[in-house]
Amino acid sequence: MRLSELLFVTLREEPADAEVRSHALMARAGFIQKLAAGIYVYGPMMWRVLRRIEGIVRDEHDRAGCQEMLMPAMQPKELWVESGRWDRYVSEGILFHFKERKGSEVCLGPTHEEVVTNYVRSMVQSHKQLPVILYQIQTKFRDEIRPRFGLMRGREFIMKDAYSFDVSADAMAESYAKMREVYRNIFTRCGLRFTPVEADSGAIGGSGSEEFMVDADTGEDAIAVCRATGYAANLEKAVSRITPPAQPENELAMHLEDTPGAKTCDALVELFPELPLQRLLKTVLYKASYGDREETVAVMCRGDREINETKLLNHLGAVGIEMADENLVRSATGAEVGFAGPIGLADDVRLLADQSVVGVQGFLCGGNQTDTHYLDVYFGRDLEQPETVDFGTVQAGDLMVDSDDVIEITRGIEVGHIFQLGTKYSEAMGANFNTEAQTLEPMWMGCYGIGVSRVAASAIEQNHDENGMIWPLPIAPYAVHLVQMKAGNEAQDALAQEIHDKLEESGVDVLWDERKKVSPGAKFKDADLIGVPIRIVVGRDAGDRKVEWGLRDGEGREVRDADEAIVAAIQMVQESRR
Ligand code: ATP
Ligand code: MG
Repeated sequence: MRLSELLFVTLREEPADAEVRSHALMARAGFIQKLAAGIYVYGPMMWRVLRRIEGIVRDEHDRAGCQEMLMPAMQPKELWVESGRWDRYVSEGILFHFKERKGSEVCLGPTHEEVVTNYVRSMVQSHKQLPVILYQIQTKFRDEIRPRFGLMRGREFIMKDAYSFDVSADAMAESYAKMREVYRNIFTRCGLRFTPVEADSGAIGGSGSEEFMVDADTGEDAIAVCRATGYAANLEKAVSRITPPAQPENELAMHLEDTPGAKTCDALVELFPELPLQRLLKTVLYKASYGDREETVAVMCRGDREINETKLLNHLGAVGIEMADENLVRSATGAEVGFAGPIGLADDVRLLADQSVVGVQGFLCGGNQTDTHYLDVYFGRDLEQPETVDFGTVQAGDLMVDSDDVIEITRGIEVGHIFQLGTKYSEAMGANFNTEAQTLEPMWMGCYGIGVSRVAASAIEQNHDENGMIWPLPIAPYAVHLVQMKAGNEAQDALAQEIHDKLEESGVDVLWDERKKVSPGAKFKDADLIGVPIRIVVGRDAGDRKVEWGLRDGEGREVRDADEAIVAAIQMVQESRR
């Protein structure tokens, strides 16, 4: 491709809302253009990248025996009512939905469990037709609360979603294991550095689940990692062991203290400097909604720990939870915000505790009266220890549950997610099959997603420098950036044309910068920004068939014979496709 013929416009300024490098660079290089919040035009260069990623995704799925199909983006509400997910998705606000002309309601698919289950229940009758794994690459719609980071968190984005159907739990686990391999292969072939982690199953529900995290400091997900044991889990799911604090020296009677204005742990630590933070138990109030009813929940937790709302939500089985507002706090505790405690809560408040409270005695907690706290409180003596569950967030330095190895916290970008769904959808929607014994049983399902557009963004999050993007060769928009220093110079024209043609004939995509009125400096700047991985420069020594060879990341710069450079580029491209 001649660059002069390409619709190629760069921006001098980065977009004001670009918080991460991938977003800033892709926008500046004209790869993407924002149409509305979280909605982007993929320009010709971007589309080349996305098609490359799709190519790898297709190749690995097909190789594993998965079958590609395409389902509609528009989905009738009735299917979502059947699966029981309509209310939750609507109340979370994630679902784009609207009424059609005739009055019935539809949504734009954020995911396709309902549609695929509906399809398979009428297509598959017998165990002889199973297992089957179907997949599609398609645009998904989610009205995200905070669309941001460019393609990373869009409201319209490209996803590959796959669904497996099996005759038994064991067979489902086999499909799942196969897909885990498919995912490893895909992300490795895309040139990403990634970590598979244990994950929460979230609104989709079901049993086992893993996420594939691209290692990046700017990632939205926090991951608990133990180098010694290889443990890796999303913080939403991670578990750890923490040590209880030392017991108080003397057991004193519980008493109410005035703590004017002390609404936070920090303020209390200042008031009671001799009391360790671990003996300060906070009580956090939540409003849990279950679709048809609401409940006020109070959760006790150690002062030095944080509550994990995903674990709480899962334990409650609620549709959603949110922190209680001032009014709810007042009616539940009789006090202003900041003084909630376990003793004397309103009758309809459900009291729970995080496991971090286990073994804590002689503690401080809110007095449920404005400006007061209880001191020297003991479980068993002053109150029963409430139902205690792991609602905690793992912190750096925590120990593994079953060993003394230490956990660190790192960050990542979720590019893929695989689930064992079990029979959740097939039971709800009646997707049954005839077994060998002629009984009717629900199919065992799995689902598997890859954020195709997010993969592109995370590749740049991992591979860039101050001058621009650095595409991994397997997903680069072009493999070779052919920079011609002076267009119109006869020797340079001839050699560049020859290199271009020979590479293209061998299946190597070349971006040939033969622009006339652009200085070599500006050409190099653009080349750095676009980030095509292999660079061949045709300049002064073109008459001697010499070119400058180099990689975008700065490796291997040297003068080479043109023929050698051609062979080397072909070789590199072929190797990257293996
Ligand atoms: P997240 O936790 O980041 O919101 P999710 O867990 O809701 O994602 P899944 O339902 O697991 O997402 O979707 C499968 C894959 O689709 C994700 O692993 C991710 O790569 C991609 N994805 C999800 N939401 C978005 C989005 N808003 N923009 C771009 N890609 C997305
Ligand atoms: Mg996910």
